[in-house]
Amino acid sequence: MSLEETRSSELLAVAGELSIPVDPRRIATHLGLRVAEAAFNDELSGLLVRDSEMTAIVVRESEPETRKRFTIAHELGHFVLNHPGDLFVDTLTFNRRDNRVGIAIDPLEMQANAFAAALLMPANALRSAVATLVESKNVIDRTHLIDTLARQFEVSTQALEFRLISLGFLSPA
Ligand SMILES: [Zn+2]
Repeated sequence: MSLEETRSSELLAVAGELSIPVDPRRIATHLGLRVAEAAFNDELSGLLVRDSEMTAIVVRESEPETRKRFTIAHELGHFVLNHPGDLFVDTLTFNRRDNRVGIAIDPLEMQANAFAAALLMPANALRSAVATLVESKNVIDRTHLIDTLARQFEVSTQALEFRLISLGFLSPA
């Protein structure tokens, strides 16, 4: 298992966050982090900032809830994976990039994205959710599968599809 998979599943266990949808705000609180929302006027989607007193995650308040959840989980990745620095600033493009394969971005950002996906869509939970859906229907349409699972896990359909493909549960479109 990759570092992101291992650390995210350890964190879910330690935080007692074992049901779906995972609540990244509760996990942040469990780790002693503050989570706030702000009306950024530029391209910011979120940030992680730490000083000697505390560490805070701030997300863009106008974003859809699924995006906020992913951003919080992404910032948690910077924190949990001990990325060096006291300020991480993420722009609106990082989420879009995350959904494309083969685009070179900062390795730490890719790692934080992988951590966020693993935290919000744990492999075991996703595997059983797929199995349950497939068992309940004779034919599963790709779009229906992705939409249903995205609602269950409270993530964007893009993030869900990317996760299914990267786990090998779904072939690339
Ligand atoms: Zn980041």
